[in-house]
Amino acid sequence: MQFGLRAKFTVTVLVILTVTMAATTYYFIHTSIERQEQQLHERGRALGRLISLISPQAILAFDYLQLNDYTREVSSQPDVVYGLVVSPQGVPISSYIRGSNTSLRDRIEAARPNTLPSTLQSLGGEDELLHLEFPIIHNEVLLGRFLVGMSRESLQKQIRRQLTVQMFVFAAIVLFLGAAISAVFRFSVLRPIEKLIAASDEVARGQYPVVEVTSADELGMLARAFNAMTDEVKLKQAKLHRQANFDALTGLPNRMMAFERITLEINRAKRSGERFALMFIDLDNFKDVNDSLGHAAGDQLLVDIGARLQACMRDADSVARLGGDEFLVLVSNVADEGEIERIAARMLEAASEPRELGGRKVVAKCSIGIALYPDNGEDVEALMANVDNAMYQAKAKQSGSVMFFTKEMNIRLRERMELEQDLHVALELGQLALHFQPIYGAASRRPTGAEVLLRWRHPERGFISPAHFIPVAEASGQIVEIGEWVLEQACRCWSGWRDRGIEPGFLAINISGVQFRRNFSRRLGERLSTYGIPPKALELEITERVLVEDHDQVAEELSSLRALGVRLSLDDFGTGYSALTYLKRFRFDVLKIDQSFVAGLPDNPDDASLVKAILAMATGLDLKVVAEGVEKEEQLHFLVTHGCDFAQGYLLARPMDEKAYASYLESGQADEPVCLTLPPTGETTAEEAAAVSFKTF
Ligand code: C2E
Ligand code: MG
Ligand code: MG
Repeated sequence: MQFGLRAKFTVTVLVILTVTMAATTYYFIHTSIERQEQQLHERGRALGRLISLISPQAILAFDYLQLNDYTREVSSQPDVVYGLVVSPQGVPISSYIRGSNTSLRDRIEAARPNTLPSTLQSLGGEDELLHLEFPIIHNEVLLGRFLVGMSRESLQKQIRRQLTVQMFVFAAIVLFLGAAISAVFRFSVLRPIEKLIAASDEVARGQYPVVEVTSADELGMLARAFNAMTDEVKLKQAKLHRQANFDALTGLPNRMMAFERITLEINRAKRSGERFALMFIDLDNFKDVNDSLGHAAGDQLLVDIGARLQACMRDADSVARLGGDEFLVLVSNVADEGEIERIAARMLEAASEPRELGGRKVVAKCSIGIALYPDNGEDVEALMANVDNAMYQAKAKQSGSVMFFTKEMNIRLRERMELEQDLHVALELGQLALHFQPIYGAASRRPTGAEVLLRWRHPERGFISPAHFIPVAEASGQIVEIGEWVLEQACRCWSGWRDRGIEPGFLAINISGVQFRRNFSRRLGERLSTYGIPPKALELEITERVLVEDHDQVAEELSSLRALGVRLSLDDFGTGYSALTYLKRFRFDVLKIDQSFVAGLPDNPDDASLVKAILAMATGLDLKVVAEGVEKEEQLHFLVTHGCDFAQGYLLARPMDEKAYASYLESGQADEPVCLTLPPTGETTAEEAAAVSFKTF
C-alpha cells in the first residue's frame, strides 16, 4: 500500500507525539506514585507516633480495653488495614483488623512472635500493603511495638484514575494535534505541491500556467523557480515554433505553416459554406537577379516582394513563402472570380513596381496560378497540386500572367508526364529523326543551306511537333542528350553528303538554353574536328530566352563559339524579350524574324512596320536577316523589297527527311524552286524533293 506525503508526515508526527506524551505521562505517574507512597509513609509514621504517645499508660496500667480503643481509633484511619500492638517479645496485645475477618483476627492472636510477620504478610501482596513498625517506649523502656499495615489500594485507584484521565486527555490532544497538523500540512504544503503538479501536467500538454506564489518559504521559492522555468520553456517553444513554421528570411509563414492554415481554412469553409482561393506566385527570372546582382540583392528582393504582397492583402488573408522565389497567398471568403482577378492584378502591379537593388533599378515580374476551394480540390494536396499546375501554365504562357486552374490543365499535365516518359525511350527506339528545311537567298531564291528540325514519330500518337516536346525535354533535362544526338546526326549527315560529292551548304541547328550551360563550345569543337566540318558550315540558332537566363555564362559560351568560327543566329526574334541590348551585348551574325510577324505581311500595318524596322536595324548592326514562315509570294516580295537577305518557308520548301534532302541537294539544277504538293504530315518526300531543282548555293 502506498502512503501519501500527508499520511507519512502525520503518522511520523503522531508517533513522535505519542512517544513524547507517553514518556511525560510515565514520568508524571512515577513521581506521583513516589509522592503518594511517601505520604502513606508519613501518615503511617504519624499514627505510630500517636500510639507511641498515648498507649504507654494503657500498657503500664494493663488497661487493654483502653489500649484496644486506641488501637481501633488509630487503625480506623483511612488506608489502614490493620493496627497491632505487640509485646516486646512479639505477642499481640491489642489488634484491629478492618472488616470482619475473625479468622484472621484469631490467627493473629494465636500467632507466635516468630510467625506474626508472615501472618501479616499474608494479608496482602507486597504491592498492596505497606507494613510499618514503631517501638512503644516509655522512660527508655521498650513496652512493645506498634505494627500498622497501610493499604496502597486507594493510592493505586487514584493512579488508575489519573492514568485514565491522562489517557483521555492524551488521546484528545493527539487527535486534535493530528487533525491540526494534517490540516496545516494540507493547506501549506500539499496544496502548493498539488498546484505545481497540475501546472507541470499543463506544461506537458503545451500550456504555460503561472503558479501563484503564496509564501516566501521553500515552497514559494519552488513556485517562483517553476514560473521562471515555464517562462524559459515558453520562450524556447516560441522560438522553435517560429523556426519550424516561419521563413527566416521574410518572416512569413513557411510551407508547413501554410499547409496548416489551408487545412484550418478548409474546415472553416466547410462549416460556413464559403469559398476561398489559393494563389501561387512565382517570380520570373529570379535567377538573373541572383546571378547578376548577387545573393544579398536576391534576398532583399524576396523580402521586398513578401512585404508588398502582404500589403495587398486583407487581415484575414495570409501570405506564405513556400521556398525559393515561390509565395502562396490564401484569400478567404471569396465572392467571385472577379474579386480574385482584382487582387491578382494588384499583386502583379505591386510586385513589378520598380525598386533599387544593388545600385540598379529592378522590375520583378511574376506569374500567378489560382485554385479555388472547393471547386478545384477539397483537400490540401489536391489544391496545392492544382494551384502549382495553374502557376506553371501561367509561367509557360507569358511572364506576368495570371491563370485560374482548369480541369484541362490536369489533363495537359498528365499528357506532359506521359510525353516525358515516352521521350526517355524515343532515342533508343529510333523514333527521333532529323528533317531539313532549306533556307533561300530572298532575292535570288537560291537555297544556301537548311535548318535542322527534329521530328518525333510516336508509335501511338503519330507525329509530335518539336514545339510540343522540346519544352518538355528542356524541363526534364533530356534535351541535353537529345541535343547532342541532333548535333551528332547533323554532322554525320553533312560529312556523308560531302563524301558523296554533294555540296551540302550550311546547316542551322537549334540549340536549347539548357544545352548551352554545359561546356557546349568545347564539345562542338571536338565534334567538328572529328567529322572534318569547317565551322562556317554550321550556324547555331539560339532563342532570346537563352540570353536572359544566365548572362555571364551565356556571354562566355557565345564568345567561345565565336572563337570557334561557327555562325550565331538569333532565332524567333521579336517573340520573347526582344531587348535590343542583347543584340549589342552578344554579337550575332544572323537574325531570324519570327513567322508570326511574317504572317501579317504585307497588309498588316503593324507587322509591316515592325519587319521594316527590324530590317533597317539589322542593316545598321551589320546582321544578315532570315525571314521565317514565308508562305506567300507577296510576303517574299515585301521582304525582298525591304532588303531581307534570306527566306525560309513553305513557299520555298517544306522540311524534308534526310533522304529527301540528299536527293534535293543532288538534283539542284532547276532555275526556279517549285512549290510542292505535300504529303499529309506536311513534310517533303525524297521523290518530291528530287523533283525540286535549284541552281547552286
Ligand atoms: P524554329 O526554330 O523557329 O523553326 C521553324 C519552325 O517553323 C519549324 O517548326 C518549321 O517547320 C516551321 N516552318 C517553316 N516554314 C514554315 C511556314 O511557311 N509556315 C509555318 N506555319 N511554319 C513553318 P517545327 O519543325 O515544328 O519546329 C518548331 C520549333 O521547335 C523550332 O522553331 C525550334 O525552336 C524547335 N526545334 C526544332 N528542332 C529542334 C532541335 O533539334 N533542337 C531544339 N533545341 N529545338 C528544336
Ligand atoms: Mg530555329
Ligand atoms: Mg524560329
